[in-house]
Amino acid sequence: MELLKKRIMQDGKCFPGGILKVDSFINHQIDPVLIGQIAEEFVRRFAGKKITKIVTVEASGIAPAIMVGYLMQLPVVFIKKKMPRTMENMLTSTIHSFTKERDYTVCVSRDFLTPDDHILFIDDFLAYGNAAAGMIDLADQAGAVIEGMGFVIEKAFQHGADQIRKRNIPVESLAIVESLDDCRIVLR
Ligand code: 5GP
Repeated sequence: MELLKKRIMQDGKCFPGGILKVDSFINHQIDPVLIGQIAEEFVRRFAGKKITKIVTVEASGIAPAIMVGYLMQLPVVFIKKKMPRTMENMLTSTIHSFTKERDYTVCVSRDFLTPDDHILFIDDFLAYGNAAAGMIDLADQAGAVIEGMGFVIEKAFQHGADQIRKRNIPVESLAIVESLDDCRIVLR
């Protein structure tokens, strides 16, 4: 997606350890016009799939996911990173965050992830695929089907997409980062 690639080159910042910061337009301050265009692109790429629900992980996946849900007129569920005391009937999994260097027990209610669901998973970044693996685990537990996974930015050098494709799940990334070596952003 050319517009997104242009914006990454213009406003993205590179940090040591293979981290790309896009917090001026995607995951801290948010450009809703760009997120709207991102959502339109996801809708185009997953057209023809039988989807019943959009699923993401809090917090930074919520903005693009909700725009996709709005355009597709589908409910949006976000996987929680903290177990709420008031929620029963939860499915749980563990996700390792390499940016925060810790494990999270994530959860989602069985009421909102069911065997009837055909899911489109949306997230801001695909790195090693840990969040995606957590999603796959939760969907397996629920008996739900994942129809596709869409990422705003994929860091190809961390190979998360390989893990997802091994499960025969279609993956779409709107901008693919080939390298962040020497703190220089190289896009595919
Ligand atoms: P993964 O689970 O695929 O290893 O990493 C994806 C998750 O980690 C995303 O949900 C995102 O929040 C975070 N993440 C991974 N790499 C980056 C990065 O380079 N920049 C930012 N801002 N977040 C990242």
